[in-house]
Amino acid sequence: MVRFTVLASGSKGNSCIVSCTTGADGTGSSSTRVLVDAGLSCRELFRRMRQVGEDPGSLDAILVTHEHQDHINGLAVTARKLGIPVYFTEATHRAWVRQVTPQKRITYAEWAEQYRVQKQQAGSHPVPEPDPAPDPAPEHDPVPDPMPNPESNCEPPSKQAIPQIAADPAQLPSVQYFRAGESFSIGDLNISPFTIPHDAADPVGFVFTAEGLRLAVATDLGYMPPNVQAQLRRCDLIMLESNHDLEMLRDGPYPWSVKQRVLSRVGHLSNAAASAFLEEIYDGAATHLILAHLSESNNLPELARLAAERALISKPSLLANRLHLASQDEPLAPICL
Ligand SMILES: [Zn+2]
Ligand SMILES: [Zn+2]
Repeated sequence: MVRFTVLASGSKGNSCIVSCTTGADGTGSSSTRVLVDAGLSCRELFRRMRQVGEDPGSLDAILVTHEHQDHINGLAVTARKLGIPVYFTEATHRAWVRQVTPQKRITYAEWAEQYRVQKQQAGSHPVPEPDPAPDPAPEHDPVPDPMPNPESNCEPPSKQAIPQIAADPAQLPSVQYFRAGESFSIGDLNISPFTIPHDAADPVGFVFTAEGLRLAVATDLGYMPPNVQAQLRRCDLIMLESNHDLEMLRDGPYPWSVKQRVLSRVGHLSNAAASAFLEEIYDGAATHLILAHLSESNNLPELARLAAERALISKPSLLANRLHLASQDEPLAPICL
């Protein structure tokens, strides 16, 4: 049995679980369970998992699509708490490390003084000559302000654990690298990461294959390029972004620059773009379609549903597809295949 559960979806946090249990009657002898993104606090992830009957302790790994905050907010705490590996592309891992490592800026005078002291301490050992100046800080710092300590979102850590964790916010029990276009396996799950057009270091979507079933996760993409269209063929379940209604976005509260970013080819998929895919390209193979990453400011669930339903109704053969709307505030009932 393959089970897909959306714990949360939207700009305040994304996370879902793919699990596969092999065995005659579904009680099975082996099971694999992975968390895709950890965009909520560890505490909230665990709460939602228990709410849908998933045991956090049974997770085998966390997969990361990209390093945006709404996908990694509870990542380090959750991975450390469970002692499980985190799967990234190398570029996403590097970007994440930069993001969570506090940035300390010093003036040239401070740096020169540090260098002088270092040299003194080194004594007779030669110290290489310094560059004429330290790297200038970028004009527009892409690194957000350090987040409040996410540990506080989880169960209170033991006294011994605090200094360990505080030492390196990027510390993880284990890191595994994958590359878009190269499949890999975790237990009984086969995973095919594919590149998506989005403004992150190396963003990916995933196709999971188990028990002869294909499940696709494709959110956070500015448009639907041919490689993504190809990945979404012959899928039994598709979680697809339906981020915004174009009119709501245009008339909405976001600053112009943010509107431009969302609308760009590395932004997010609109209701119109998602339904155009369903109407023109989608092969109709999925039993379940999940509309996801709906914007709270620039979309309404009814608008996303209506656009997708219109697209499906235009092709009567697709009426058997079951449409679900993922929500930010509560998990979706687990979908069993
Ligand atoms: Zn993103
Ligand atoms: Zn996102």
